[in-house]
Amino acid sequence: MYNLKVVIIGAGIGGLTTGIAMRQAGYQVEIYDRAQELRPAGAGISLWSNGVKVLNRLGLGEKLAAIGGEMNAMEYRSHSDESLSYVDLRPLFEQVGQRPYPVARTDLQTMLLNAFGPKHVHLGMPCVGVEQDDHTATAIFENGDRMSGDLVIGADGIHSAVRADVVGHCVNRRYARYVNWNGLVKADPELCEKDLWVLYVGDSKRASMMPVGGDRFYFFFGAPMAEGTQVDPAHRQDELAKIFQGWPAPVQKLIEALDPEQTNRLEIGDIDPLDHLVKGRVALLGDSAHATTPTLGQGGCQAIEDAVVLTRYLTTTNIGVADALKRYEAARKDRTADLVMKARKRTSTIYGYVPEATEQWYADLKQEPPEAVINALAKVILAGPMG
Ligand SMILES: Cc1cc2nc3c(=O)[nH]c(=O)nc-3n(C[C@H](O)[C@H](O)[C@H](O)COP(=O)(O)OP(=O)(O)OC[C@H]3O[C@@H](n4cnc5c(N)ncnc54)[C@H](O)[C@@H]3O)c2cc1C
Repeated sequence: MYNLKVVIIGAGIGGLTTGIAMRQAGYQVEIYDRAQELRPAGAGISLWSNGVKVLNRLGLGEKLAAIGGEMNAMEYRSHSDESLSYVDLRPLFEQVGQRPYPVARTDLQTMLLNAFGPKHVHLGMPCVGVEQDDHTATAIFENGDRMSGDLVIGADGIHSAVRADVVGHCVNRRYARYVNWNGLVKADPELCEKDLWVLYVGDSKRASMMPVGGDRFYFFFGAPMAEGTQVDPAHRQDELAKIFQGWPAPVQKLIEALDPEQTNRLEIGDIDPLDHLVKGRVALLGDSAHATTPTLGQGGCQAIEDAVVLTRYLTTTNIGVADALKRYEAARKDRTADLVMKARKRTSTIYGYVPEATEQWYADLKQEPPEAVINALAKVILAGPMG
């Protein structure tokens, strides 16, 4: 189909990537976001090769490589500083044809926003619902404005306002029973080797660092916690020092090095897989369709995959918009549901839902051959739309 007018709700990774793909297809695209200023919710993100391949296809490969960190290996270490497993990731790059890129989220957002064109992103526009008839779909905004197009895409994240209209009921986030702290620090060999992704694990908690562009490490911590706890930014360093007391020297140095005011503290959740990702001329995309816990590092990559698959069906079929959206749903529903459920299972193992299973996992890490890790990662990557 040609000359479509597309209304996208949400200027996150999913909305912006979709905007870029659809603009390249010759469609007229406007994006609306409720935020007054676009600020990503976390500090860093690891874009695995399946996400990178899509961005390559959209012509962003060189720009992404320029902001990406060079991550060549991953290592699990115990909280008593024993190496549990070390995997050289380069055979993975050979197998799948593209390295992954850990990046700072602000760098990624700036890259995507500039590629799409900031003047077509309208801020301060909270969407409150959608309507449609046989010819158009309309987004309705809090201020009473209405924007119509051939289709509306709800790329408005885990607490999506578009989702209830598509699935017919409210879907709430499910708390995953742990808190994630994340931020950026200057790269320092005393913290971690510059091309290594290190994960310290123990006591159902973890602390991790990986390289991103600009000679920095993206770090994150995770620990089980009851829902609803809040800690002021000024006290986050003290909180981490207490939770990770006695952990190895690099973890202590990381806690000393981080800027507590710039350290995000997030309660992590996901949503149950949905029966429908589309209704007529309205499609859900990214976290609004399949928010997942970040234990596989695939949420953002799946949003990026959604963007190119949805665009492909709109551009390669001509029965109609609703038909193309159905094909998008059929292509994406099982893949994304499968990853949500796998990440959920991994979350339970990492964060000690069943403490014996977590202890067993620590023991298994020592036995797992690197090829098995590479093959598992390759399987997820190669099942993406770019192969
Ligand atoms: C701690 C953490 C670590 C992660 N690590 C990784 C990783 O390593 N690799 C990976 O691939 N993924 C990772 N993810 C997942 C990834 O961040 C998400 O899957 C991704 O950001 C989803 O993008 P999105 O565009 O769908 O949604 P979002 O990024 O949530 O964007 C939604 C946008 O919609 C706007 N919006 C919301 N409601 C409305 C409304 N009513 N009206 C208008 N606008 C609205 C918001 O302001 C926002 O800009 C991680 C997630 C977390 C929490």
